[in-house]
Amino acid sequence: MTVRGPVPAERLGVTLPHEHLFIDLMREYRGNGLLNDVSLAVAEVARFAAAGGGTIVDVTSIGLGREPEKLRQVAEATGVHIVMGTGYYREPYLDRDAIDRRGVDALADGIVRDLEQGVDGTDVRAGIIGEIACDRWLTSAEERCFRAAARAHRRTGATISTHAARWPVGLPQLDLLAEEGVDPARVIVGHCDLVPDPDYHLAIARQGAWVQFDCIQGTNEYDTAARIGWIRTLVGAGFEERILLSHDVCLRTDLAAMGGPGYTYVLTGFRDRLIADGLAAELVDRFLSGNPQRALTG
Ligand SMILES: [Zn+2]
Repeated sequence: MTVRGPVPAERLGVTLPHEHLFIDLMREYRGNGLLNDVSLAVAEVARFAAAGGGTIVDVTSIGLGREPEKLRQVAEATGVHIVMGTGYYREPYLDRDAIDRRGVDALADGIVRDLEQGVDGTDVRAGIIGEIACDRWLTSAEERCFRAAARAHRRTGATISTHAARWPVGLPQLDLLAEEGVDPARVIVGHCDLVPDPDYHLAIARQGAWVQFDCIQGTNEYDTAARIGWIRTLVGAGFEERILLSHDVCLRTDLAAMGGPGYTYVLTGFRDRLIADGLAAELVDRFLSGNPQRALTG
């Protein structure tokens, strides 16, 4: 489900599964953490289209400055398919008063409404549950948000995408979702490249979940080489069908206009690095198209 309606998986093309076109991270990044300019977003997404891109998943979730109407404008202006997120991000972005007053099933009802009817009074529908998030541990409110996401997933079949940054919290996230009956194969564990531990990446893949390296920005050689190494480890262990790649553009300085990777580095820079390192082009292109298509549609 895109912001302009349903699109068959095979027409999504090259797909970035974890990005933000509009987001408000001002609680942590004053000055740099606000993406709210439609013209700028159109220009950045047009670069992605010109590089051969087909689809961007905007995993800006509830409380993070989601912009359903603006997302639809960008999709119409560029022809790029855009999938919008729903579900709850992490503390301190949770509206604790609103969340504490509602039970898990009521929270799930809101997520299902976003997926089946539209977001914030519009008819623009979300197409993925995410990013749902916690920091080093799950707080009690985050646990209830994860349970709500799981129940909304079971009612709709929508894929779940998580934020598990810096600490290996993707594994307890998968455990919690499994407790609610979610098949790990329908869960994308995000920010795996911020956890510099190939055993962690392998453990997620062995559970059957998606291992998403989504902070690929090409800003320094150390980080680029590390990511190539982790991808090779997963491929070597037979998990090439579980790998997803993206940039997680979320700050103004991440945009191409400001000198950052924009939405194109994975396609125009990192893809060539993987091929130069010995991976077959056909395999790398599966990371960019076939894998995210399967991840989005189950
Ligand atoms: Zn993100």
